[in-house]
Amino acid sequence: MNIRKVISFDDVLLSPQESSIISRQEVDLSSGRENLKLSLPIISSPMDTVTETGMASTMNLFGGLGVIHRYNSIEEQIEMCSVGGWRRAAAIGASGDFIERSQALYNAGIRIFCLDVAHGHHVLIKEAIGELKNFFTDITIVAGNVATLDAFNDLSDWGADAVRVGIGGGSICSTRIQTGHGIPTLQSVLDCSASDRNAMLIADGGIKNSGDIVKAIAAGADFVMLGSLLAGTDESPGSVFESSNGKKYKVYRGMASVEAQVDWRGEARSLEGISTTIPYKGSVKPILDALRQNIKSGLSYSGARSISEFQSKAKFILQTTAGQLESNTHILNVK
Ligand code: IMP
Repeated sequence: MNIRKVISFDDVLLSPQESSIISRQEVDLSSGRENLKLSLPIISSPMDTVTETGMASTMNLFGGLGVIHRYNSIEEQIEMCSVGGWRRAAAIGASGDFIERSQALYNAGIRIFCLDVAHGHHVLIKEAIGELKNFFTDITIVAGNVATLDAFNDLSDWGADAVRVGIGGGSICSTRIQTGHGIPTLQSVLDCSASDRNAMLIADGGIKNSGDIVKAIAAGADFVMLGSLLAGTDESPGSVFESSNGKKYKVYRGMASVEAQVDWRGEARSLEGISTTIPYKGSVKPILDALRQNIKSGLSYSGARSISEFQSKAKFILQTTAGQLESNTHILNVK
């Protein structure tokens, strides 16, 4: 058996290139195509500790997109999508009440549907996309998750307008531990971006900082999807609690964690995620602002004024373990 060597975010860096960019204002981060075009290429995850009305409307304000999670009743989801005039996307499943839910969301004005399944290279997704296309002619379909070029091509051929790429990389994900399956997200993005199909690519899972976002875009992603980077904020669902040491926290949990499954379906059938607490971060607005500035700086280090220019110029290098240590902030440990 041939075993392939693959790379993760921390295995690579981007080589700096000559630049004539004077100010970050010159860098344009808009990405995507007519049916899904964003001025900030960031989408918040459809998770019940990340995206409900507050996060989705703030994402919209910054030029990104929030996908309202589907772990609620149809009425609750419609209510979350109905506040304000922001651009709405909703997540749906590929079985159960998904036809009824999509019909109700469509009637409420939703035109971006996210078929949200752990293993998206699946006959159920094929059938679900087919059914959605039969019912509605003017919707944008985001589908996933997948990890391979074959899967990306199939979902695109089945009718997905955008595909979420990344299996097993999420910060709260235990899929690789439980099932032994997955591919480092950056490798999946590199593989899927070689596709000759039309679907847009969303890098999803394991993005820890703006550097990873820049690397995902360099590898060919049109957008990134973020969970942990946006969780723990005022705009994410859930309450803030204070521990005995006075520090404030919020819950961040995988949608396949025991806790999330028990809450939304009354029992845990399989376990592919964890529930944890993360430090409370205040408003997500300064976080989004910093991400935007850092991504723009990232493009300017490659001398690129737009995402398409960046993707054609970007040069990855592999770093050694010593390089990885040097890349993290470090100070001499003087005794
Ligand atoms: P993060 O940005 O690394 O925190 O990853 C967020 C992503 O993890 C989401 O967009 C989903 O694709 C994925 N995810 C959410 N819940 C679970 C889970 O319970 N198990 C595995 N992956 C999950």
